[in-house]
Amino acid sequence: MSVGIERIHAYIPRYRIRGSLFQSVWGKPASGARAVANYDEDALTMGVESALPLLTADLREHVHSVTFASNTPPYTDKSSAVLLSIACDLTSDVEIADFSCSLRAGGAALRTLLDRANATGTNAIGADVSDADVSSAEAATGALSRGASGKALLTVSEIQVCEPGEALEPGLGDGAVSLVIGSDPFAELVGRVSFSDWIYDRWTVSQQRFAHTGDARFASEFGYVKVLQQAFEKLLAQCQTTRSQISKVVYSAPDSKVHKDVQTALDLHPDQAFGRSLAHQIGIAGAAYPFLALAQAFDASQPGDLVALLTYGDGADAFLFRINDKIAHRRPQTNRLLAESFDLAHYGHYLKFRNLVAQEELRPFSSEVQTWRELAVDIRRHGQRCTVCNEVSFPKRRICQTCKAKDHMEEVRLPDVGTVVTFTRDRVIPSPVGEIWMAVVDFEQGGRFYGQVTDIEGESLQTGMPLRFTFRRFHEGGGYHNYFWKLRPSAVREG
Ligand SMILES: [Zn+2]
Repeated sequence: MSVGIERIHAYIPRYRIRGSLFQSVWGKPASGARAVANYDEDALTMGVESALPLLTADLREHVHSVTFASNTPPYTDKSSAVLLSIACDLTSDVEIADFSCSLRAGGAALRTLLDRANATGTNAIGADVSDADVSSAEAATGALSRGASGKALLTVSEIQVCEPGEALEPGLGDGAVSLVIGSDPFAELVGRVSFSDWIYDRWTVSQQRFAHTGDARFASEFGYVKVLQQAFEKLLAQCQTTRSQISKVVYSAPDSKVHKDVQTALDLHPDQAFGRSLAHQIGIAGAAYPFLALAQAFDASQPGDLVALLTYGDGADAFLFRINDKIAHRRPQTNRLLAESFDLAHYGHYLKFRNLVAQEELRPFSSEVQTWRELAVDIRRHGQRCTVCNEVSFPKRRICQTCKAKDHMEEVRLPDVGTVVTFTRDRVIPSPVGEIWMAVVDFEQGGRFYGQVTDIEGESLQTGMPLRFTFRRFHEGGGYHNYFWKLRPSAVREG
C-alpha cells in the first residue's frame, strides 16, 4: 500500500504590498511583492480557507485527524486545530494535534502523519492490509480502525510580522496550505529523512512579538546551504536516486540570493529548483512557505515525476514523492489563486491591519458562556431547515416562516455561497479601512443571511452577484479572539 498526499490546496490572502511601496516609505531598495492578510485574518482563518475546498462531502467523513502547524497561531496555549475542525464542521471524534516552535513545524507534522499512515497500513507482521481487510475491520471496530483507511488533514499557516522598517519586512509573506494525507495519493511517498542541527539564524524570544535575525552570511553558509545540502544528499542515498532523476526540488530560503546559493550547492539545474519565483510574488510565509511552493510544483508536475520537499529549521525534514496519474484531476491550481490579487496603496493600512500603530480602542462585549453556547451557530455556521417544507432559516427559530410549522427544525450548515439581494456601505462603524460593507444574501436552497463583506476593495458590489462565506476574526471582546463568518466575492479562490 502506498501512502502520500491525496490533495493539497493553498490559500494566499488577496492583498499585496509591492516592494516599491516599502521603498517609498523607508527609502531602502525593495523588489517583488508580499502577500498581506486582511485585518480580519489570522493563521487560523487562513487555515480554514485552505482546508474547506478539500473537505468535499465524500471525503470529510473519512477524516480521522486534524493537525495545525504554525509559529503564529492565535493562541499559544489553546488548540487552533480544534477550532479549525469545528469551523470545517468536522465531528468531535477527530484526533487533534498542534505543531509549533520551528520553521519546520509543517515538515515535522507531515513526517508524523506519513509515518502514522504507513504504520496503520501494515499489520503486526508488516504485511500490507488490503482494502477488504480494512473495510471488514472497520465494520467490526468502528472508529478505532478509521485510522487505517482514514485520512489526515494537515494545515500549515503563517501570518508574519516584524518591526516596521526592518530589513525582513518586504520579504515576509502570509499564507496557508492544507493537505490530505492517506492511502490514495497522487504524490506517493518514496522515502524521507530527518535530522537536527542547532543554529542562531532566526528566532523569536517567547513573549516577544518580533523575530530577530542573526548574521545573514553566517546563517546562509552554515544554516540553509549546509543543512539543505546534507538533507538532499541523505534523501538521495535513502531513496537510491540520483539528482538528475528528480524533476523538482522544493525548499525555502530567506531571500533569493540564499535560494540561488542552495541551488548551486545542491548542483541543481534552475528548472529543478523550486520556490524562488513564488517568494518574489508573495514573500516567505515561514513554515507554510515550502508547502505553498510544493503546491505550485505539483501544478507543474506530470505522472512519473519525482518531487523532493526539503523543510528547513534547526535541521531538516526531507521527503521524496513520486507523482502518479491521479494528478490529472487533483492539480492545486495555484496560478489561478495568484492571479487574483489587489495591491494595497497605503502602507498605513498595513500598519493598522497588524496593529502596528495605535488605534481607537474598542470594547465590544463578549461572554465566554455565550460564545461556548453559540459555537454551532457562530463557528460551525449552523442554521436550521424545516423538515416539513425544507426552508432554511438563520438564526434559530421555532416556527417556520414559510409553512408556519412549529418545532420541526433540524440543524444544517448554511450553504457556502449566497446571492446578493441588497447591500450598504457603513462609514460609522470603526474599521482600519474607514468603511464596512454589509450585504443580505439569499441561498439557492432557501434562507437568507445578513453580514459583513470583506476583501472587497477594488471590487464593486452588485445585486445578484455571488458571495462566499469566509471565516474571519471579528473582534477581541472579552480578551479573546471572537470569530464569525463574513462574506467575500466568490471568484476563483474556492479551488
Ligand atoms: Zn416550513
